[in-house]
Amino acid sequence: MKDRIDKIYKRISEHSDSFLGYPLAKDFSYQEFAPFLDLCINNIGDPESPSTLAIDTKDIEKECVAFFADILSTNMKETWGYITNGGTEGNLYGLYLARESFPEAVVYYSESTHYSVKKNLHLLNIKNIVVRSQPNGEMDYDDLEQIISFRRDKPAIFFLNIGTTMTEAVDKLDEIKRIIHKYAIKDYYIHCDAAFLGLIAPFIEPKPKFDFAEGVDSIAISGHKFIGGPMPSGVVLVKRNHRNRIAHSVSYIGAMDTTITGSRNGLTPLFIWSFIQKYGKQGLIERARNSQKVSAYTEKRLKEIGINAWRNNDALTVVLDKPSNALCDKYQLASEGNIAHVICVPGIEKVQIDLFIEDLKREKKGALEEAQLV
Ligand SMILES: *Cc1c(COP(=O)(O)O)cnc(C)c1O
Repeated sequence: MKDRIDKIYKRISEHSDSFLGYPLAKDFSYQEFAPFLDLCINNIGDPESPSTLAIDTKDIEKECVAFFADILSTNMKETWGYITNGGTEGNLYGLYLARESFPEAVVYYSESTHYSVKKNLHLLNIKNIVVRSQPNGEMDYDDLEQIISFRRDKPAIFFLNIGTTMTEAVDKLDEIKRIIHKYAIKDYYIHCDAAFLGLIAPFIEPKPKFDFAEGVDSIAISGHKFIGGPMPSGVVLVKRNHRNRIAHSVSYIGAMDTTITGSRNGLTPLFIWSFIQKYGKQGLIERARNSQKVSAYTEKRLKEIGINAWRNNDALTVVLDKPSNALCDKYQLASEGNIAHVICVPGIEKVQIDLFIEDLKREKKGALEEAQLV
């Protein structure tokens, strides 16, 4: 058994060193929580209601949620939230509350939206319409406007991307508001999918508009992306009145059943909390800036060697023409059609980028020589 486990460890650790194409920070260590691996931990039910099963980290979870509320321009009086299993669950939760607010609503989301959203909509059985995207991955507002103009009478749920998966494009809240006002949409709900950018956008200039000060109803963020961690996690924040609409108490656990799953991870709140203690807002500002430097460097180096590369503003995601399958495999680059991306998360430094550039150069040279031989 030991042999097998060692092999698995080696494979994951080698591959985690080499990937460049996924938005997962690599620079964490949670060794201090190793003793917790021998405990039963469970944050079952609403984070604010104590359960009869007192083996939870809900006090820590609430502190994490309060930190997110603060960076998203709100407080715990106005909003409520919990630590999820990831961005997908947070998006599902936001859409669930949206549907409970407006059962007859139609969801509008762009074609660059994360693949899991389609499944969420299917699970919730909500009517939905896909809006075209612009080439940079941002929603095509003219297309949205045209669609809305035929459905002015219907409540609308706007599912916005604050950083799309492929190109890190940000849908513009101001454009959505303009359309809402132009067509006098009375009943609407705005959810922001900030899976990756949620922990970056509050700390960069110019700051993308997406938070509760702007009037959004819910926001989902992944924890294992910009914070990083050995297992998936996330946070969802919603306006408190939406959560109250669905709250009902379950006597078996003695807690309000306001979350998607029953049993919930009690370890991930500890990880997120320790990250917040270590970094705080100032640390996050620097963390975002460092990553932006690496992505600017990556874009520059790629262009220097004649590769077509670009970024949305100061994004950490550098989009490039898809290299060979061999290189995509070696660096675990996600691709879509003929583009791929490098995501400069914390833990990826110039040295790793340089290795990738050298490989690309070699490949280009090889292709050139081959062409000359023919
Ligand atoms: C990663 C991602 C998701 C899914 O989040 P998970 O944490 O993997 O569940 C959803 N939307 C966007 C934009 C993402 O980048």
